[in-house]
Amino acid sequence: MLRFEDARRLILNHCRPLGPERISLSTACNRVLAEDMHAPWDLPRWDNSAMDGFALRHADPGAAASLPVEGYLAAGALPGAVLAPGTAMKIMTGAPLPKGADTVVPMEEAHEEAGRVRFAKPPTPGAHVRRQAEDVRAGELVIPAGSLLRPAEIGMLASFGKIVVPVYRRARIAVLSTGDELVEPGEPLSEARIVNSNAYALAAALQEIGAEPILLGIARDTRESHLDLLRQGLEVDGLITSAGISTGDRDLVRDVLLELGAEEIFWKIDIKPGRPMAFLRSGFRPIFCLPGNPVATLITFEELVKPAVLRLMGHRKVIQPFVQGILEEPVRKKPGRGQFLRVRLRVRDGRFLVSTSGDQQTGILRTLVRADGLVYLPPEAADLPAGAVVDLHLLGRQVEMLEE
Ligand code: AMP
Ligand code: MG
Repeated sequence: MLRFEDARRLILNHCRPLGPERISLSTACNRVLAEDMHAPWDLPRWDNSAMDGFALRHADPGAAASLPVEGYLAAGALPGAVLAPGTAMKIMTGAPLPKGADTVVPMEEAHEEAGRVRFAKPPTPGAHVRRQAEDVRAGELVIPAGSLLRPAEIGMLASFGKIVVPVYRRARIAVLSTGDELVEPGEPLSEARIVNSNAYALAAALQEIGAEPILLGIARDTRESHLDLLRQGLEVDGLITSAGISTGDRDLVRDVLLELGAEEIFWKIDIKPGRPMAFLRSGFRPIFCLPGNPVATLITFEELVKPAVLRLMGHRKVIQPFVQGILEEPVRKKPGRGQFLRVRLRVRDGRFLVSTSGDQQTGILRTLVRADGLVYLPPEAADLPAGAVVDLHLLGRQVEMLEE
């Protein structure tokens, strides 16, 4: 049966970035740049002072001890000032260095009195000067297409005056729940009914990565109902279904998708939870058929759908690497099946300490609510003792820190 890593690769191979659009920089955080950004000018644009202090020419005979002060350059002063030989010029951080100057002595190392400045120690040549283009040279590639726009990238774009930026379109992903037992939250819960929680969980998971969920509601366990709603799902950039993909006689999702012309890439993966997952495509549209069990739905989304949706939205970096953690308790496992464990994480001395977040049966959602991460145990793994090193994915960025 297909291994987790192979399933993920297959899925990614079938996903290509959607088209671009232009948006205002002020709304571009967490979007993905769609064109390479080259610098239109040098950064900094001129040599300038890194400190409040005195600009001087290091080779001047007086520079080792004391110089007359002539002139003052505030931040924002126009470039083009000239330093007269044998003088120093008072200069503020960021102000362009006057022509002829090559060194700055900070205020803290200088004493100004009666129009002269004395230096506490001989200045170091070239000290406290930011050179033109030392950050970026005009024409250089500064942000490649496919980069996530985080605050640092937004700042860089702003520093080059790019107030309108080309980004990849957000993916519009249809979400369809299936099953006669489902009612929408808020509807009367008669006996044997359960709430369609997956649609909400999946919509949230999509929103979290910047995609736009399109909620299609619930397909009932008839061919007609599936046909109607699945057809709608094939009109947007991608489709996620939950439930109805096992081998029950009411499990219609795959059959109806095939009837609608979709091509099946795989069905079933060697992971638990999540084994019955199927992946199909219709033209360029990926179709993710996830198991119905809420824990399996979210774990397969996290591990297999998320990288694909990130790729649709143009991200170059779509894989979350495994990090290593140390088991605080033994884990029982039979070799032969891959498994994701829901775990709590704590950090001590820079290492992740891993303990299970509770009952690992697929039906227990509470264990996922408590989880900080997912440990991946490959098919060949067997029982592991406390202290064993395991691979894991973080489910958030922050974890509990233990004092040393
Ligand atoms: P199935 O894949 O149809 O056998 O469903 C597996 C389990 O997931 C059953 O217990 C379903 O009731 C449950 N389930 C299916 N769809 C949903 C949903 N949309 N929200 C919450 N639970 C669901
Ligand atoms: Mg069902």
